[in-house]
Amino acid sequence: MGSLNQRIGIAVILAILFGLILRHYQSLQLVEFTIPILEIIGDVFILLLKMIMIPLIFFSLISSISSLKKNKSSQLLWKGAIFYYLSTMVFAVILMMVVMNLFQDNLGGIQLGLENNEPQLIIDSEESYSVKGTIKSLIMNPFEALSQGNIMAVVIFAIFFGMALRSDNEHVKKIKIWADGIFEVVMNIVNSIMTVSPVGVFALLSLLIIQQELSMFYQIGFFIVLVLGVIIFHGLIFLPLLLKIFSNENIKSFWHGIKNVLITAFATSSSAATLPVTLSTLENDFKVNKKVSRFMLPLGATINMDGTALYEAAVALFVASLVGVNLGLYDQIFLVFLAMAASIGAPAIPSAGMVTLAIVLSALNLPVEYVAIFIPIDRLIDTFRTTVNVEGDVIGTLIINKHFKS
Ligand code: ASP
Repeated sequence: MGSLNQRIGIAVILAILFGLILRHYQSLQLVEFTIPILEIIGDVFILLLKMIMIPLIFFSLISSISSLKKNKSSQLLWKGAIFYYLSTMVFAVILMMVVMNLFQDNLGGIQLGLENNEPQLIIDSEESYSVKGTIKSLIMNPFEALSQGNIMAVVIFAIFFGMALRSDNEHVKKIKIWADGIFEVVMNIVNSIMTVSPVGVFALLSLLIIQQELSMFYQIGFFIVLVLGVIIFHGLIFLPLLLKIFSNENIKSFWHGIKNVLITAFATSSSAATLPVTLSTLENDFKVNKKVSRFMLPLGATINMDGTALYEAAVALFVASLVGVNLGLYDQIFLVFLAMAASIGAPAIPSAGMVTLAIVLSALNLPVEYVAIFIPIDRLIDTFRTTVNVEGDVIGTLIINKHFKS
């Protein structure tokens, strides 16, 4: 694994240099020729990760849940996971909202010059987000969910399936052995995909640097600084502090150990696509109990999104100040729940958080069209959101692992 670590490190450095050079010489024909090649390499890497993502989530949850005995440790795992995921998300959202409220005056003064050029409605929020529609997409035919890649529905079915496998019936026990075996096969595929990850990371990061649109940054730069500031605080200070307090892990070796995971999250902007890397790193390098990692990580990738939740809240408050609406205390408390619900519901794929923003804005009677403003900056902010989302999953797993006795 050590040499893979180094190769990924080298890929990052080369991508930064290469990306900056190509960005500088964008008019050259050679650059026009290079971008599609990078796009193909990046796409293939993401497709490989996505290919294995659903089998991985499904068999990992089954393998873990079916091995859990009905005892105190299993209860700790369930309750600890839910408590950790929800409480860290609440903290992230509230901190972001405090910061936004503190700087409300500066944000309200931002002029976007939209008077004659109103943002266009790009998402039909009423249609796509009815409660009935959401329930239907969560509880569904498992084969349909697996084939559609509907992660949340797969998670729900895997929980049922894993619990049903906890039986003493001889036939059921055979299926459990099968499921564990398939999971090992899936992990072997993951390990072979990992060998090409330096190339994928190189292509994705170079593209990010070459293609990043900067015009919107000049207009809403202050908002971006606030959001990134809180994301960075959450990721560099708050979450590691929790790790230190609740698991006494050495922080330096923690950063060293999860470098690849964070780089993959940053490059792919998808917690789910990063899951193969997260799982293999925690099991192979951190020696986390497999029952814990196989339960916590797929669940975390699906529901635990601190970065996304805080971003949803920040955008809602920013849009409110742009249109001159003052959200009172009750609206802001409502926003805490809304932002969390929207992030839990967001699939762990690139820009999912931006799409669910529409629910948050429409629930607060804010103009949904304003989502359009955030499209040009989303690729960049998503890289940071996803990195902190994944870091949260890792830290939660390490904390619970410390207290779990199988
Ligand atoms: N891309 C994020 C993730 O996969 C979700 C989001 O768009 O915020 O964690």
